Amino acid sequence: MPDTVKLEVFRYRPEGEGEPLYETFEVPYRDEWMVLDALNQIKDHQDGTLSYRWACRMGVCGSCGMTVNGEPVLTCATYLEPFLPGPIRVEPLHGFPVIRDLVGDLEDFVGKLQRVKPWIIREEERSPSEGEYLQTPEEMDAYKRYSMCINCMLCYAACPIYELEPGFIGPAAIALAQRYNLDSRDEGARERHEVLAEHEGVWSCTFVGECSIVCPKDVDPAGAIQRYKVDATLDFFRSLVTPGRSP
Ligand code: SF4
Repeated sequence: MPDTVKLEVFRYRPEGEGEPLYETFEVPYRDEWMVLDALNQIKDHQDGTLSYRWACRMGVCGSCGMTVNGEPVLTCATYLEPFLPGPIRVEPLHGFPVIRDLVGDLEDFVGKLQRVKPWIIREEERSPSEGEYLQTPEEMDAYKRYSMCINCMLCYAACPIYELEPGFIGPAAIALAQRYNLDSRDEGARERHEVLAEHEGVWSCTFVGECSIVCPKDVDPAGAIQRYKVDATLDFFRSLVTPGRSP
């Protein structure tokens, strides 16, 4: 194993050179190091101005997503070893405007997430004296997979449609809408349908499936989108044969 490995790091400092460039750093190589450890070595010992996001270092916060040798990954969960002998190219997640160095602007996703109302909607709230909303293990299983999303944005970076159609609501927002649609306590599916069924909702997806391949939490957003398409189509045909029922 080598003593060191080189990283080619994307740099963008709007107040400085203005144009993005790649800067090469040489860091110590350790078998147990992740890409994030190498970035921290650079920040702590070589260039304190390097900017990137991270927080939990255990694949939970979703903030350290970056592009490593062309693939969107969580840098806290990606070893250096498979990329030997290097150099290892580290870039921000593709598909998002870059604020600085490896930091992307995720505002677009935040707005789209709010549009699908990712919270439990009730037509009428039960009074506290009536007790909690009970749920069986089977009812929880119906949505649990989609609840594992950590908003890491790897699925957006991998999605070719998001790059071509910036209005596309996108994989994680749809998976999170399904997380609530399939929750037995929720009554908001009709409100979410207005967003999901529009052109830039589920119908923009051509089922490339890359979103599910890169997802570090096995959420399967591609499956969530296809499932919603089937349900929406069945609902539409039911509305044709059932007077008074809207799709
Ligand atoms: S669906 Fe997966 S890849 Fe997409 S934001 Fe959620 S955890 Fe990340």
